[in-house]
Amino acid sequence: MEGTGRGRTLDKVEPLIKDSDQSPMAAMKRIMQDQPDIVNMAIGEANFDPPAALVDIACRLLQDKVDRRSLYTPIRGLPQTRQAVARFLKRNFDADVDPEENILMTCGGTEALNLAITVLVRPGDKVLLPEPGWGPMMSLMERRGAVIEYYTLGLGDAWYVDPEAILAKMDPSVKILVVNSPSNPTGAMLTDRAAWKRIMEKAKEYDIFVFSDEVYHAYTYEGSYPSALKLDPSFENLLVINSFSKSFAVMGWRLGMVIAHPWLIRQMDVCKETVTACAPSIAQWAFAEYLDDGEEYLDRMRAMCQDNMDKMVARLNAMPGVKCPKAQGGFYLFPDFSAVEPSSAAMAERLLRNGVAVARGSAFGPHGEGCARLLFSAHWQNIAKALDRIEKAVTA
Ligand code: PLP
Repeated sequence: MEGTGRGRTLDKVEPLIKDSDQSPMAAMKRIMQDQPDIVNMAIGEANFDPPAALVDIACRLLQDKVDRRSLYTPIRGLPQTRQAVARFLKRNFDADVDPEENILMTCGGTEALNLAITVLVRPGDKVLLPEPGWGPMMSLMERRGAVIEYYTLGLGDAWYVDPEAILAKMDPSVKILVVNSPSNPTGAMLTDRAAWKRIMEKAKEYDIFVFSDEVYHAYTYEGSYPSALKLDPSFENLLVINSFSKSFAVMGWRLGMVIAHPWLIRQMDVCKETVTACAPSIAQWAFAEYLDDGEEYLDRMRAMCQDNMDKMVARLNAMPGVKCPKAQGGFYLFPDFSAVEPSSAAMAERLLRNGVAVARGSAFGPHGEGCARLLFSAHWQNIAKALDRIEKAVTA
C-alpha cells in the first residue's frame, strides 16, 4: 500500500482536516502579502481605523503599572465588561440580559461559536444552516459530526433571510437552527419581527435550539435591527453570538461574546478554561471603559458603509453581465458574474489577475456558484480603484 508520506507514527493519527482542505482566506492572505498592489475586497475585515478614544484607552491601560491589567481575567470575562455589554444590549436592542448569568466574553465570535457548538452539538445531531452561508460555521458543524441540512436564502432586489424557507424545514428531528442576520456573504437579513417570532414559537414547540449570529448587527440599512434577544428572554431556546470585531473594527483584538441560558454559560465557562482561559484582558478593560460612548462611531461607520454600498451597487449593475443585489445589512455584496464567467473560481482568478482579490462565491455553498463576495467596509478610494479594475476584467 502506498504511504501517505507522513511517516508511520503520523499515519496512526486519524486526520481531522482533509489534506485537500485549505482555507481560501489563508491562500488569499499569502497572495496579498506578496503583491501589495492588489486591492483586497476578499477578507472580511472592517477596513478602517477603530475609534480613536478606544485606542487611547487601550494604550493607557497597557502602560498601567498600578492596576495590573495584563493578568488573566475571570474565565467568564471581567464583571465591568459584562456590565458594559449588558448596557449596550439594553440601549441597542432593549434587551434585559443579566451580566452575571447570561454573558460569557470570548476570543471573538469565532470562539463563541466554537464553544456553543462544542457544548450543544453531538455526532448525528441535525442542524439547519443558511445557504449561501459562512464557511467556518459549516466546517465547525461538520467536524462535530452534525448532519447538516441547508435552507436557502431568498433573492429579490436584495438577498433576504426567508422565514418561510426556515419554517418549512423545522420539525422535531432538528436540534439546532442557525440564523445569521445580517448574513455573511450576502447581507441578507431577517427584518420581519413577526416572522422571527413565529420561528421562535416553532422552535419552542419542537424543542429546537436557535443560534443567532449577530456579529454584523451594527451594519443595517433597512429599518431598526430585530435582534433575537427580545424573543426569548429566558434563553430556553436561544443562544446569541456577538462580537466587537466588525462593529468597532478591532478584528485582531479578539473580543466577542455568547449571550445564553445560565446553565449553558456555565458549561461553556468550564470548557473555555482549557481553550483560551480568558478573552484578551486589555481589550476587555478598554471596552468596559469605552463602550457607553460607542454609538457615535457606529452611526458614522454605518453611514459610510451604506454610502459605499449604494454607489457600488449602481456601478456594478451598470457593468455588462453583472447583476448585483443590494445588501440589507453587513458589509459584503454578493454580485452574480455568471453571465461573464460561469465558474466563480475562474472569475475570482480573472479578477485577481486584474488586481482585485475577492472571495469566490462557491466557497459559501452551491447557490454561490457564479458569484463573488466583495467587501465594502473600506475607504471609497480603494473601492473605486477596485471597481475600475473589475470593469476592465468584465469587459475584457
Ligand atoms: N460570524 C460570522 C457570520 C462571521 O462572518 C464572522 C467573521 O468573519 C464571525 C462570526 C466571527 O467573527 P470574529 O471571530 O472576528 O468576532
